Amino acid sequence: MLIGCHLSIARGFEAATQTAVQIKANTFQFFTRNPRGSRARALDLNDIQKMQIIREKKKFGPLLAHAPYTLNPCALDPKTREFAALVFAEDAALMRHLPNCLYNFHPGSHVGQGIKSGLAQTAALLNKVLSADQTTPFLLETMSRKGTEIGSTFEELAEIIHKTHHNHLVGVCLDTCHVFAAGYDIVHRLDDVLEQFDRTIGLERLKAVHLNDSLMPMESHKDRHALIGKGTIGLPAFVKILQHPALCELPFFLETPTDDDGHKKEIALLKKQLNQSASFPSGT
Ligand SMILES: [Zn+2]
Ligand SMILES: [Zn+2]
Repeated sequence: MLIGCHLSIARGFEAATQTAVQIKANTFQFFTRNPRGSRARALDLNDIQKMQIIREKKKFGPLLAHAPYTLNPCALDPKTREFAALVFAEDAALMRHLPNCLYNFHPGSHVGQGIKSGLAQTAALLNKVLSADQTTPFLLETMSRKGTEIGSTFEELAEIIHKTHHNHLVGVCLDTCHVFAAGYDIVHRLDDVLEQFDRTIGLERLKAVHLNDSLMPMESHKDRHALIGKGTIGLPAFVKILQHPALCELPFFLETPTDDDGHKKEIALLKKQLNQSASFPSGT
């Protein structure tokens, strides 16, 4: 199983990788820069090389780089969209130095322009940034539709992908809290939801999962992460998600509201649950 959580890279990639090993993770997510979208840290190739030695030794899975979530690729103000394009392009350049790394971003908020226009703006931005020789997969995160967020339905995500020219490496990161809040019943109808994903987007585009419980009920359109097993999704649903044949080989990333020590406990809890259900199959 490939599992990790969001970690700070304030002390560098090697230090973050060491933390991941300490908490029994074999991958992690990080912000490419301060979430407010300020300048990225200077590239330290020596630090990346040291990280790679640990990743290889410990058989790490793909890392997940998260774009600043305050960027809005489909903002009304062209300057805000330009800024998002600039950050994406800079981040794409950084990704070239990070082997086996995926790049995740929020599709944006249409801020009153309407969903159609929002989807077109975000695809236009991807068309500006992505080239034929793109090497890093760009992942659209599934959203909860809080406010005017786009990307809360599989159809909307599919439309962005179809409007993007070089879309061979455009994929999706499924956030369990967000899809549940958006109205997809992953607790009682996981198979149906994944079939729907396959029909609309194609499961081959699903590259990562954000593992978060939800404080709010299904279809609440509220983005409030809860600790694993302490929300409306619940522990048994997470065990099914981790074991599902369509998902079990993907990297899973916790973004639950706790610290490194809390994430260590959640990883241990999930591994224990998986081991138990492997030795005592429920038959369902
Ligand atoms: Zn996110
Ligand atoms: Zn997320």
